[in-house]
Parts: sequence; C-alpha cells; structure tokens
Amino acid sequence: KEATDINKLADEYLRLAYHGLRAKDKSFNADLITDFDSSLPKINVFAQEIGRVLLNLFTNAFYATHQRQKKSGEAYKPTVSVTTALKDNAVEITVKDNGVGIPTAIKDKIMQPFFTTKPTGEGTGLGLSLSYDIVVKGHSGSISIDSRENDYTVFTILLPME
Ligand code: ADP
Ligand code: MG
Repeated sequence: KEATDINKLADEYLRLAYHGLRAKDKSFNADLITDFDSSLPKINVFAQEIGRVLLNLFTNAFYATHQRQKKSGEAYKPTVSVTTALKDNAVEITVKDNGVGIPTAIKDKIMQPFFTTKPTGEGTGLGLSLSYDIVVKGHSGSISIDSRENDYTVFTILLPME
C-alpha cells in the first residue's frame, strides 16, 4: 500500500472513463460535476486496485446515463457527480448518475461475479464483484448502493484510514 491522493486518482480515472466511452461512441456525452474535498489527507491504499474500482464505477455511471439518453424521448441531461469527503476516520467517495437506475428485481444480483445486463463485449459482470473484494476484503472498507429505476444511482465507497 502507498500514501495516495484519492482526489488525484479519482480525477485521472474520471477522464479515462469518459474518454474511453467517447472513443467507442461519439454520440456519448455527459456533464461532469466534481466536488473534491481539497483538505483530504493521503491514505494508504493499493492505488492501482482502487483505481480499478473507481474506473468501473465511473464507467457504469456514464453507461447508465447513455442508456437513458438513447431511450429517452424528452429533454434529458446526462449527469455524473463525484464527491470526496472525510467522514470520521474514513475517506468517502460517492458516484452519482441520473441514468437508468437499478431495478429492484436485480439489486441483489449486481455484486455477483458475471452478473451483467450489458450486451456481450460491453460488460463482463466482474466489475462490482472485484470491487467488493478490493474495497471490503482488501481495504476493510464498504460499498453501499442507493438507486431508483429511471431516476438515479449512487454508489458510496468508504475507505478507512489506518
Ligand atoms: P458490468 O459493468 O460488466 O456489467 P458490473 O459488475 O460493473 O459489471 O455491474 C453489474 C451490473 O450492475 C451492470 O450490468 C448493471 O446492470 C448494474 N449497474 C452497475 N452500476 C450501475 C449504474 N450506475 N446504473 C445502473 N445499473 C448499474
Ligand atoms: Mg462495470
């Protein structure tokens, strides 16, 4: 583990996720809102692993807005918001999107390995199960989810400081 600036990591992977999706589909766009706590201390993490967790959360969020954009008739503004904050003895990262949301019927399944609603080639269904291993098992942290279908999804990650 190494002392890591979570804001910098989040910023890098946010750009990577956004440009990765745009490279595949030029019609993809989204507004990005970031609120990074500039007083966040560096924390000891496996930076590359946490980077993968963030990349997957950001990619999922953008993807969900893009899906809603494609099926939406009305005016719709795809938006992804990312925040970082200090909460007690942990760094909290939230990723919110106003995409398609997670239907109640599949809420219990999305953390399972290989569960995906994406077409072949677009998703492996491994992102969230891997994230669980990295955050919960590897960093004693937590992942929580709040979502409403056709409204929003928020993932909250807590990474305790050692
Ligand atoms: P993948 O992205 O390869 O499908 P993940 O483990 O990252 O695998 O996600 C599993 C499933 O959880 C997705 O296929 C999707 O159905 C659901 N999901 C994850 N994040 C979101 C989100 N932000 N909005 C809506 N659904 C989501
Ligand atoms: Mg994914």
